[in-house]
Amino acid sequence: MPTTKKKSKKKHGKGSASGSGPGSASAALDADWEVAPTESLRVRAGFDLASFDRGSTPGFTGDKAAGQALVARHADELSELQERLFAEGRSGGSRSVLLVLQGMDTAGKGGIVRHVVGLVDPQGVAHRSFGVPTPEERKHHFLWRIRRALPEPGYIGVFDRSHYEDVLVGRVDALAPPEVLEKRYDEINRFEEKVVASGTTIVKLALLVSYEEQRARLMERLERPDKFWKYNPNDVDSRQKWPAYQEAYQAVLDRTSTETAPWHVVPADRKWFARLAVSELLLDALRRLDLGWPPADFDIEVEKKRLAAT
Ligand code: AMP
Ligand code: MG
Repeated sequence: MPTTKKKSKKKHGKGSASGSGPGSASAALDADWEVAPTESLRVRAGFDLASFDRGSTPGFTGDKAAGQALVARHADELSELQERLFAEGRSGGSRSVLLVLQGMDTAGKGGIVRHVVGLVDPQGVAHRSFGVPTPEERKHHFLWRIRRALPEPGYIGVFDRSHYEDVLVGRVDALAPPEVLEKRYDEINRFEEKVVASGTTIVKLALLVSYEEQRARLMERLERPDKFWKYNPNDVDSRQKWPAYQEAYQAVLDRTSTETAPWHVVPADRKWFARLAVSELLLDALRRLDLGWPPADFDIEVEKKRLAAT
């Protein structure tokens, strides 16, 4: 329970109303969600990636305007919960949140960072992107660079790509022997279990763009001068291996969606929906922490008197 009953100075919209403000474990489901995204997007045994519609909006009955309105309506709560988390970290707490973003090129990872993570105070965000391992990183176990990048208490860590690359591109391009690759799924599960046990809530999101939409987005990057910088000829090389990547993603979802750190699949062809889904999943993770405000570690009355005397 929150350590203080003091009412929030910030106003919250309809989404967090009905008696359950920030910090409550389960806020009422907003009307446009028929099934909560924590459920409608959750990867469970038997999930079939090939038949997953990347233009769909699972569980959500509203349109684009409704989706955008909901993100806006939840922005204050998201921001306040992040501040509570940060305050807790500053006051000796050990908890943090880690958003793991995976997806093919153009899936919208950058847009999620800008439009969803961007809703909270950048001071409390620890963002890391993982590219081709450096010579130094290559000398170590694949989890070495990941461990060093884990969020400190109080932070929302964001991984743009992650240790999962080592079983995605690692598998597609056979960057390690089969027996080494094979071991990695269990290594990842054990690693994440420890991370969660140490106080970090892991939110794993697979942003899934369709083959057709990826083509259109890559073409746009070749046609617009303001997008050239995002284009990398390697993107087409990866695209040519699309079926192998889908197979590698299926294996990841089959083998690493655990109770402690489940995967959520986010259809990414409609950017507004992907952003809505991620903001709701992040909000849910923060709500479940049931965050209060740290109590004063000084004598409030004494301090008031001291201040009044100045
Ligand atoms: P981007 O995120 O588009 O800047 O691209 C980063 C590139 O780094 C992608 O092509 C990834 O597949 C690649 N990458 C990330 N992690 C690894 C890894 N562990 N091994 C090999 N390539 C990687
Ligand atoms: Mg790229």
